[in-house]
Amino acid sequence: MTSKPDIVLLVDDSQLILHPLSQAVQQRINVRVDLAHTFERAKSLLKDHSERILCVVTNLTLKDAPSGEVADYCGQHDVPTLVLTANYDDSVRQLVQQRKALGYIVKSPQCVDQIVQLIVQIHQRHGSKVLVVDDSVVNSKLQVMLLKMLKFEVLEANNGHEALFLLRENPNVILTLTDYEMPGMNGLELVSEIRKLRSKEEMAVIGVSATDNRALSAQFLKMGASDYIKKPFLDEEFQWRVLRNIEFVEQIQIIRDFSYRDYLTKLHNRRFFFDKVPPLFAEALSRKTPVGAAMLDIDHFKQINDTHGHDAGDAALRHVSALLAECFPPPTVTVRFGGEEFCVFQTETGAETMAGRLETFRRDLEKSLIHHHQKKLSCTISIGLSTQPQKTLDQLLRKADILLYQAKHEGRNRIAKD
Ligand SMILES: [Mg+2]
Repeated sequence: MTSKPDIVLLVDDSQLILHPLSQAVQQRINVRVDLAHTFERAKSLLKDHSERILCVVTNLTLKDAPSGEVADYCGQHDVPTLVLTANYDDSVRQLVQQRKALGYIVKSPQCVDQIVQLIVQIHQRHGSKVLVVDDSVVNSKLQVMLLKMLKFEVLEANNGHEALFLLRENPNVILTLTDYEMPGMNGLELVSEIRKLRSKEEMAVIGVSATDNRALSAQFLKMGASDYIKKPFLDEEFQWRVLRNIEFVEQIQIIRDFSYRDYLTKLHNRRFFFDKVPPLFAEALSRKTPVGAAMLDIDHFKQINDTHGHDAGDAALRHVSALLAECFPPPTVTVRFGGEEFCVFQTETGAETMAGRLETFRRDLEKSLIHHHQKKLSCTISIGLSTQPQKTLDQLLRKADILLYQAKHEGRNRIAKD
């Protein structure tokens, strides 16, 4: 699979919207924003970075493209496009619709927020898959077409068994649409099997059927479906129900991620650690691969608070966390345990490599400066690292804790290891 697109291209001959939009996008998501003031420039950027373009926001008309040529060009190259217009009437709507754009936005002081929201959704949703299960090729074709218009990657299955196989193979399916009457396993049986694999919070399931049995929609919901659509449906109703159900799953995922993060430092928290690490520890234990845990504690943290105020203490915590996150990206688990204490957990990394990385981090921290108001502060950290095999995670953490206190007793700003 290619990597996630990371460029948003903004095209307009006026700076009025482009400038605030560019800033707002970069504040919300980690993408590069390219600007083009002419069709020629937009074309050359699209050619150079075709794989990396997440989406294009373009004015409907430009001086060198007075009839919507930019949106045309993007449509031909299958680039998700949002079209800006000064006003909106039927003739503009026709122009936009003919150009296969995702949507149109009327320029106004509020439109920046609206556009950023849509770009964030496209960014979040990229790589999410939707599975369509139907034994009728005609029926699934229509659904697939409507889903592709929404820029989803679509998987197709002819029956329940194939659907379950595809779900096991594709962990990032965010929605499954299933027919009711199918040979072998019907839609209700399939939903019940699907729910053994994926919860409602992880994936939406929509039942789709043409039968006149009015009890069917209740049965689908009872089995664990998120929604039900009766055939024949209006295209728009289908698309909006799909989007609403996906939005629900995405919101839950955002809330879950939120509950796993420390508010001040944005590092993962203790809850994340004790949800995610025990299975990693158990797996490493069974495969006999190396495991290491380090406990880290900022030296004389109380003094920073007492001398420079709690604001300075918070700045120090954020500074240490940012450096930690940079030095120990995933799959390493890096969390703020509480107060001024942090934990780094790794599997599949040898003891010496892990000690070396922690030593580099310790030295980088010692040399770095914390900018707080007009002042430049600094701090150091003590580290206890345990990499000796233990039967339980608790024992490993306790050992790292004992080593941390040893590092403190030996004079701080150092690593103690077993
Ligand atoms: Mg059928």
